[in-house]
Amino acid sequence: MCDETNCSGIKISECSFCAKSLCSAHKAMTAAGNAMHVCHKCQLNFTTAFSQFVPRQLAVQHASWVAQGRPPQFASPVDINLWSPTFPTVPALLAGCPVIRCSNGRSWTMIDRDHATSLGSLAHLSPNNAFDAHLISMMWGFGKAGFGPFRTNNHLLTMNAPISLQLAAQLLRSQGIIPAFKEFAPRHSRLRLDGLGSAFSTKDLFFFSDVPNRHRALVFDSIVSKWLAANLGVLIKGGTENATEYGRYLYAMYSWAADLGETPEDTEVVLFGWVPNARWSPC
Ligand SMILES: [Zn+2]
Ligand SMILES: [Zn+2]
Repeated sequence: MCDETNCSGIKISECSFCAKSLCSAHKAMTAAGNAMHVCHKCQLNFTTAFSQFVPRQLAVQHASWVAQGRPPQFASPVDINLWSPTFPTVPALLAGCPVIRCSNGRSWTMIDRDHATSLGSLAHLSPNNAFDAHLISMMWGFGKAGFGPFRTNNHLLTMNAPISLQLAAQLLRSQGIIPAFKEFAPRHSRLRLDGLGSAFSTKDLFFFSDVPNRHRALVFDSIVSKWLAANLGVLIKGGTENATEYGRYLYAMYSWAADLGETPEDTEVVLFGWVPNARWSPC
């Protein structure tokens, strides 16, 4: 049943921000009249002038992405031999991922978002699952960066790190993205891991948040920050720890995605298409 006051409507959706159950009448709509998995209160909290209409540059990138046959985001290349000494479970976690062999003899295992999501979706179940979910999320995020295992190990050496990760994933499911962000992303928050900035904690939230009838948390990093500044004049710094700023970005993406007829995660792929794809080429 719908959670809104005095409503006995049938639940068809949940607010992505606060996890409230919603009937069709209580789903927020974009200015163009498209429904979102957002309640009216969160719409009021996070709507902005820039969320009202699909930005011209995003529409241009979207048209180009559709013309190319809607390609998925490039998978992220990792070197198993770089990660295995620190994390012996890595070969098992990456079993089944495609491997690309370059002419210089180096091999790269390709992690795509679906594979990382399959592990992220288990993070709420146990501390071990949460540990693996964070590990794959960081491998996906660091890609070829040689310092990835060192940084990731530092996160995981935080006292009770696997339990904190599990609790963040549980909080996201039970209370929504905003409470999870507030407890997990900012410095000195209860569940934060040492050295884990929000450009990377939002990657965890992305992989934790594949929940039916809700929108996913999206990555907020310097690429997104620069896109917003360059194309809309909106200044939200990469690495923001401010839940309202993050919520405003998410609300805008949910609204733009609804008006483009895409999921927010595909719209994120479109936005990231702004960066030349060569960046992800492993060889
Ligand atoms: Zn809400
Ligand atoms: Zn209702």
